[in-house]
Amino acid sequence: MICIPIIANNLDDVLRDMAEASKCADIMEIRLDYLKNPDLRSILERRTRPVIVTNRPVREGGKFNGSEEERIEILKLAIRLQADFVDIEHDSIHYIRKDAAHRVPTRIIVSYHNFRETPDDLNTIYRKLSSCDADIVKIVTYANDITDNIKIYRLLRQAQLPLISFCMGEYGVISRILYKKFGGYLTFASLQKGKESAPGQISIHELLHVYQARNQDKNTALYGLIGNPVAHSISPVIHNTLFKEMHLNNIYVPFRVDKIGEFIREFRALDVKGYSVTIPHKESVINHLDAIDPMAGKIRAVNTVVNKNGQLVGYNTDCKAAIQALEDVYQASGMDAKNDRLKGRRVTLLGAGGASRAIAFGLQERGAQVTVVNRNYERAQSLAGDVGCFSKKSDDLPSLEADILINATPVGMFPEVNETPIDRGLLKPGMIVFDTIYNPMETRLLREAKSQGCKIIGGLPMFVNQAAAQFELWTGLKPPRKLIENIANKKLHGE
Ligand code: NAP
Repeated sequence: MICIPIIANNLDDVLRDMAEASKCADIMEIRLDYLKNPDLRSILERRTRPVIVTNRPVREGGKFNGSEEERIEILKLAIRLQADFVDIEHDSIHYIRKDAAHRVPTRIIVSYHNFRETPDDLNTIYRKLSSCDADIVKIVTYANDITDNIKIYRLLRQAQLPLISFCMGEYGVISRILYKKFGGYLTFASLQKGKESAPGQISIHELLHVYQARNQDKNTALYGLIGNPVAHSISPVIHNTLFKEMHLNNIYVPFRVDKIGEFIREFRALDVKGYSVTIPHKESVINHLDAIDPMAGKIRAVNTVVNKNGQLVGYNTDCKAAIQALEDVYQASGMDAKNDRLKGRRVTLLGAGGASRAIAFGLQERGAQVTVVNRNYERAQSLAGDVGCFSKKSDDLPSLEADILINATPVGMFPEVNETPIDRGLLKPGMIVFDTIYNPMETRLLREAKSQGCKIIGGLPMFVNQAAAQFELWTGLKPPRKLIENIANKKLHGE
């Protein structure tokens, strides 16, 4: 079930939000502690969905600052008025007489909130709460690390009573999204952004439309993005739309990871079927996998992990994705036979980080003459040594003759959109200029290259290619490229 908390501070707004919430939620939580003079009778009479009545005190993260007696009286009234559920904090449950609660249809939720951490021993807390003779137990904690979600998962797997349990905070978002897979009784989602009743709560729109909450179940296969930060990634919307379009019972979520080793070890419990990997874990993840594809091993960076019967295997789809983006330009111009399009081309590659490594190895394999240029020259030399290509100092750029110029640095990326990695005077007509940056889609480098008569390629085709290759590695199915492109376009234009 999905529950929307109603956190308005006057009756009219409560009724308006209840009407709105009843269009998409199964149940609502009326947070009386947000209301000045709660007219509980009117609220309950006009409900169109089951409601949980909550009157949270400040000590448990709520807003009710009257006396405990007043607070409990309101909850007792909710029981007399036959509210569907009443939430009572674990340290106040003794105020509600069992017989009073059980003569009426109201179901009692006994709750525990911890806004600081997710304690190791959640079972002890669960045992204490489940001995209170409540109908439903609620244990909500704060995640300080992504692995705290696994504690909640383990707790939910063992619970005998219906249990609402998830982690708050950004690290805990996945436990809210995956509540069905984890076995939770319900999850909370805000009516809209800005109406959250707790940290980390996502909107009902995101839960239903990005994370397909209605289609998830216990058997939904899990995929996700490992990185930090991950909150603004467009990968969840892309892969979840593809899963939906292709009728796959899969879900893709963002994992904000600090300690990659611990994450990989702990999340084996969830049997995650595949990962995308992004900054800063593309290199460090390798030490924690069971096997590496030879090309990813050469590049020494993994951006895709596939779970093959419990074995985590690392791949690099950036390499093929960038090469394909370049080859497509030659194909579109009717130049050269496939696989031969890059042979002998003189390529100046700016940057010596993960993306550059992937592109340099791919170009070398295709027979291009690559020169790596990097701010830190030692890094350029080291990459050139690994690949078997050339390196130059940034000062030597003016003397370089190139058929293709590739920017694999973040120079020009949002928000520094007025920056460019190379002087426009060095861009020659007929040159192919490929900027791997996709936000913005047209960088200053590309604008200047276009005005100099160069052929340009933005970072979007590479992004689309690597996402499609990932999807294929995970599912064995070719996804509709056009769909990925459309979603990425929309998202990057802020829609
Ligand atoms: P990375 O591993 O952090 O490497 C960044 C590289 O850029 C390093 O060589 C660094 O030089 C250089 N650099 C950073 N800031 C610079 C500056 N102000 N001036 C000059 N050089 C600078 O990052 P990455 O993963 O390779 O990503 C690099 C770029 O590729 C990003 O813009 C990313 O968006 C893009 N990318 C695109 C796709 C796609 O699908 N389109 C995929 C992956 C990456 P030092 O060695 O001197 O620090």
